[in-house]
Amino acid sequence: MPYDLIVIGSGPGGYVCAIRAAQLGMKVAVVEKDKTFGGTCLNVGCIPSKAMLHTSELYEESIQLFPKMGIKIGKPEVDLPAMMKFKDEGVDGNVKGVAFLFRKNKIDAFQGIGRLAAAGKVEVKADGKTETLETKAIVIATGSDVARLRGIDIDEKRIVSSTGALVLGEVPQRLLIVGAGVIGLELGSVWRRLGAQVVVVEFLDRILPGMDSEVCRQFQRLLEKQGITFKLASKVTAVDKSNARLKATVEAAAGGAVETIEADIVLVSIGRVPFTEGLGLEDAGVKKDNRGRVIVDAHYATNVPGIYAIGDVIAGPMLAHKAEDEGVAVAEIIAGQAGHVNYDVIPNVVYTFPEIASVGKSEDELKEAGIAYNVGKFPFTANGRAKVNHQTEGFVKILADAKTDRVLGVHIMGADAGNMIAEAAVAMEFGAASEDIARTCHAHPTLTEAVKEAALAVNKRAISM
Ligand SMILES: Cc1cc2nc3c(=O)[nH]c(=O)nc-3n(C[C@H](O)[C@H](O)[C@H](O)COP(=O)(O)OP(=O)(O)OC[C@H]3O[C@@H](n4cnc5c(N)ncnc54)[C@H](O)[C@@H]3O)c2cc1C
Repeated sequence: MPYDLIVIGSGPGGYVCAIRAAQLGMKVAVVEKDKTFGGTCLNVGCIPSKAMLHTSELYEESIQLFPKMGIKIGKPEVDLPAMMKFKDEGVDGNVKGVAFLFRKNKIDAFQGIGRLAAAGKVEVKADGKTETLETKAIVIATGSDVARLRGIDIDEKRIVSSTGALVLGEVPQRLLIVGAGVIGLELGSVWRRLGAQVVVVEFLDRILPGMDSEVCRQFQRLLEKQGITFKLASKVTAVDKSNARLKATVEAAAGGAVETIEADIVLVSIGRVPFTEGLGLEDAGVKKDNRGRVIVDAHYATNVPGIYAIGDVIAGPMLAHKAEDEGVAVAEIIAGQAGHVNYDVIPNVVYTFPEIASVGKSEDELKEAGIAYNVGKFPFTANGRAKVNHQTEGFVKILADAKTDRVLGVHIMGADAGNMIAEAAVAMEFGAASEDIARTCHAHPTLTEAVKEAALAVNKRAISM
């Protein structure tokens, strides 16, 4: 009997889609080319990087905060193999969780490379054998791969991508990072905390392109205070591997001044590109855009009837929760329901210290669109819980429509910002005004009171400032 749905790829887009489809009564199969389920996110992305961020943050806290708190533990030391084991166990628990959920939802899982053979047919190639599966619908959830720099070969040993940077055998003395995006800054923070000197080279004249520029300016100053060096408006044009130390040629982005920066490890983190290799898109006639992304309509349908696509392989922010929500939406659409994702309310988090989290529009975007807005800002230096924790860096900024007071964007830099942004996302999903947040009772003493105070500040009536 043919499947109702075959999902190709078991990352957060694919596995969530498969589970939702099974919940809706469909007979579902998933095809995954890697040994474990969970895709980039669980295996080499969100989960291992957050494990390393967590352990390295606690290590740094044990040095910087414990003495102030009256906790004596002697000189803490990094045991890198044990730290890696801790990370790997976390990954293992997560990927096994996906396998369990497949069994629980009676989803058939096939290990092998999935290829679109014809309408309603998926070939699975594994160990030299090919099996053809029949299905009514196909969802492509093949995700993304590391973007490469021309002329700089990633060997995953000395010149690494994020994947190699998560398994380094020792702490590099000097780490050169190409690209000041989320992944570069997160992994840069990990290795700096563990003892590396970190230099970040970024082509643009700012870090974290796309995020609110006021937040990013202050964040850059904090990272510099922590010891990370930035070379903005610069590009790495070559890396010489012939010596024990790598020698990177760094030029001004516009051309001109050239210098050499030495490093033990170079991390190339200039972004990610959609992954469709071996999928047979061309043979199946599925169209891609000029950036290699599968083209879909508002219902995630490609130009070929019965074939859909979601997650990193289509346009939009390359985020696990965006892929997951698209997975749910497309399963519901295939089942005849009205699946939908609100792209105006997709949170974005940088898990450094402090964390940065945002949802909705940045001030830069509102200015560019000519939308009149009011700003409410509240610093963590005035929040009781942040003060008592000695974690007062950062602020909450709420942007509200000048006429209607509707919340248009929320930007938080501070400890636990990634958890706090959920409140803003819920408020925005319900079309809240800043007044609604300001009049919602927030528990004391919590960092979230800074969100309430920022909402009060939109109408210039913050209490604690
Ligand atoms: C270091 C790092 C940190 C990150 N941190 C975060 C974070 O904190 N938060 C966040 O939201 N996002 C984060 N991301 C991004 C996140 O991992 C991706 O947005 C997310 O994994 C995309 O999900 P997906 O399901 O579209 O694709 P993927 O997770 O890439 O999964 C695609 C799957 O498809 C499989 N596949 C591909 N082709 C085939 C084929 N032909 N046949 C069978 N299987 C195939 C692949 O093996 C893979 O398992 C991070 C990424 C990296 C690299």
